[in-house]
Amino acid sequence: MFISTRDKNRRVNFTQAVFEGLAPDGGLYHFEKMPDFSKIIDGFSSSQSFAEIASVMTENLFPDLFSSEKAAEISKKAFPFSPELTWMEDDVACLELYHGPSCAFKDFGASFLATVMEEFLAEKEQRAVILTATSGDTGSAVAQAFYNKKNIDVVILYPSNRVSPLQEKQLTTLGCNIHALEIKGSFDDCQRMVKEAFIDRQLKKKYCLTSANSINLGRLIPQTFYYIWAWIQLKKKAEKIVFCVPSGNFGNLTAGLYADFWGMRTDFFIAATNINDVVPEYLISGKFTPRNSSKTCSNAMDVGNPSNFERMLSLFDSSHEKMKQKIHQEVVTDAETLKVIQDFYKLTGRFIDPHTAVGYKAIKNYKSENPDYKGTIINISTAHPGKFPEIVNKAAGRNVELPVQLKKLLDLEKKSTVIDNNLADLAGFLKKTFPEL
Ligand SMILES: *Cc1c(COP(=O)(O)O)cnc(C)c1O
Repeated sequence: MFISTRDKNRRVNFTQAVFEGLAPDGGLYHFEKMPDFSKIIDGFSSSQSFAEIASVMTENLFPDLFSSEKAAEISKKAFPFSPELTWMEDDVACLELYHGPSCAFKDFGASFLATVMEEFLAEKEQRAVILTATSGDTGSAVAQAFYNKKNIDVVILYPSNRVSPLQEKQLTTLGCNIHALEIKGSFDDCQRMVKEAFIDRQLKKKYCLTSANSINLGRLIPQTFYYIWAWIQLKKKAEKIVFCVPSGNFGNLTAGLYADFWGMRTDFFIAATNINDVVPEYLISGKFTPRNSSKTCSNAMDVGNPSNFERMLSLFDSSHEKMKQKIHQEVVTDAETLKVIQDFYKLTGRFIDPHTAVGYKAIKNYKSENPDYKGTIINISTAHPGKFPEIVNKAAGRNVELPVQLKKLLDLEKKSTVIDNNLADLAGFLKKTFPEL
């Protein structure tokens, strides 16, 4: 069972947690009691595929919900793509999580969530409309994941003229059950409209409005699978394993901590941030001071009030001391980020994206502060460098190639509906688009 971070008497099962997203008390759902999977994790072999690992974990996490056949079917459907492990230095590996449809790690969580939601809705013979606001990057993982899913429509709100041309293509070219709404306004307007729609009980009920936010437990849990997969690949070679996680909302790092609490033995984690360093500051001082975010070149990590911090606190019984023992922190500036992209390109001829570069610089810092440390550090590579060509090209001095998934989109036609930034227009769109509901 799962409980809210703000009220442990609010117990729900996984299905409820998935459809509610945020708990009604404003808290986040997390494990009531951490399961022990150490035997299962130790029993995996490096020849098993990612989908196989995901299947065994799914079956053991949700024995009341999924038989082993069902878990295998879900994992196969959700993960036609897989992580890949490469090397950056002798003792620094790179866990590439960008081989999915939107070329970023969010594909893992979004695809699993979409697959289980489709499954649950089919059982209940229900429909749902996912309503989501995006400033450009996160919406594409959701759009790709839910494309063609039965009994689910997705309505994506994005600010008109404020996302990059490539991002807009990712949101507007799928069609079918993915509806792109161009809002005359800012990203904040989009977010406000989504919030207002959820508060409007009539609307929420009529269209079975549901969210697919990154705080959803159905997105968080599958992110544990790639940590476990990577750990299995390296456990024979490496005595100690460290994960370095470029972080914004800290969902990715929280997933790594989950896997560790379940019995995947890691030495520690490195939390790498850009100058939006609320969590590193807490790790140093014990004080958590949320504030407005600052714009950086690793903008998927521009978060001033990381929502998953509540889950991290719960894991460590709100003890600063305990959290500090498991998580080391590093803060990286934009200038350092660009420099490390440039240096790595010069040395190896390979491109890394700005988020991955923050992680890599953090590792370099850690190693120079701790020259005697003997362990293998795995840098979590969160996005394909071709997703951020403007920054990467400038830093490296050479043009990065677009990944095939994105290249394909360039010739497709944009389809979107433009509306004003108010709830009445959103309600009007829903009525016209879903007249049968
Ligand atoms: C979302 C995102 C991050 C930050 O992940 P969190 O789970 O929010 O900490 C890092 N890099 C990229 C490319 C992202 O899209």
